[in-house]
Amino acid sequence: MTSRIYYTDPYCRRFEASVTRAFVHEGRPAALLDRTAFYPTSGGQPFDTGKLHGAGEAGEAGEAGEVGEVGRARRGPFGSAIEVIETIDVDDDVVHILSTPVTEGALVSGEIDWTRRFDHMQQHTGQHLLSAAFDRLFENRTVSFHMGSDASTIDLQRELSWDQIARAEGEANRIIWENREVAIRFVTSDQAATLPLRKEPAREGTLRLIEVHDFDLSACGGTHVSRTGAIGALVVTAAERFKGGTRVTFACGARAIRAFQSLRDATAGSVRLLSVLPRELPAAIERMQAETKDLRRTLKRFQEALASHEAARLIGTSDVGSGAALVIVEALESWDPNGLKAIATHIVAQVNAAVALFSTESPHAVVITRSPGVPVDSSAVLGALIERFGGRGGGKADLAQGGGLNSDLAAIAAATRQLLQRATSK
Ligand SMILES: [Zn+2]
Repeated sequence: MTSRIYYTDPYCRRFEASVTRAFVHEGRPAALLDRTAFYPTSGGQPFDTGKLHGAGEAGEAGEAGEVGEVGRARRGPFGSAIEVIETIDVDDDVVHILSTPVTEGALVSGEIDWTRRFDHMQQHTGQHLLSAAFDRLFENRTVSFHMGSDASTIDLQRELSWDQIARAEGEANRIIWENREVAIRFVTSDQAATLPLRKEPAREGTLRLIEVHDFDLSACGGTHVSRTGAIGALVVTAAERFKGGTRVTFACGARAIRAFQSLRDATAGSVRLLSVLPRELPAAIERMQAETKDLRRTLKRFQEALASHEAARLIGTSDVGSGAALVIVEALESWDPNGLKAIATHIVAQVNAAVALFSTESPHAVVITRSPGVPVDSSAVLGALIERFGGRGGGKADLAQGGGLNSDLAAIAAATRQLLQRATSK
């Protein structure tokens, strides 16, 4: 059983220990130490990383503030520092996954990556405050907590309004700025039963409690800052409905600053493009959306009118044969597949015809249709074209649409004309 230094001293970033077991864990070199400050993934908080140095090499540097000294990885009995890549909790022991193997019995000096860990301590303590604020203000309990590398989330039992979220966020920040003490206490489960814990403890035996003075008391094995002021600030960056409750995404400390910076950059870019003030952005976007909708409607009207005009032109330039259906095969410039379809539909509604219209842009789009009673299977014609010229598409006997025909347009048109003429002359 590893003695966990972080239980009582979460600010310990360097420590001396001896390797009690050196082994291979799932293909990677690993070690157990008699004591460790490395935190293994647990309770929503990710693991610590860092280094193991040869003992004595880094041992004399003891005080906080001299971390850089040790971080320079002086040459020791290992040759150079060994990286602690991951830390895992396995059966009451803390397994350190290493970059290279260590020797059993060796004395080592461990050093945790403090930037990573302190960030975790800020997020984790911030989570206690935010969960407590939701609980105290709205009796809305936290059911789970997850700390990711970018964002942290808590899942709350019930739904919340944005106004309620803002109030809880404000309350958490008030406690941060009051710089309250965050104490660690150990109690038996019997003692715990008499205490007003925010959450029922999940384990028996001795419990570790985290107490934010006069605000929150909960059982937790994670690492926390010693006074709330060290969290800096807490911001809620998103909230969404989740499993009948609410998932709240938040950020503390440097992450809160980064969240603000990223919003600032996005807002500054949008404000420049739209020439409005940041607070006018939603209204400006709403206006643009309404304008776009109007324009689309107008465009559709014009397209319809133009399609009818284009259909008349194509009918006029075609030779009307001896009673058999008209065959019209054309490539049209600047029409999208919907436009081609509109024109073709107009033609077959006005004259007895089989029609294939292509886009001039390569790869070519195509629409094939015919008037009722004209013996052309549009989808079969399309199938034959795709087989010969590539592309894809589908449809029915009366109308088929395709795209991606990748060949010389004259050749495609000649083949199409032949297929349609053969079918209509039956
Ligand atoms: Zn905690």
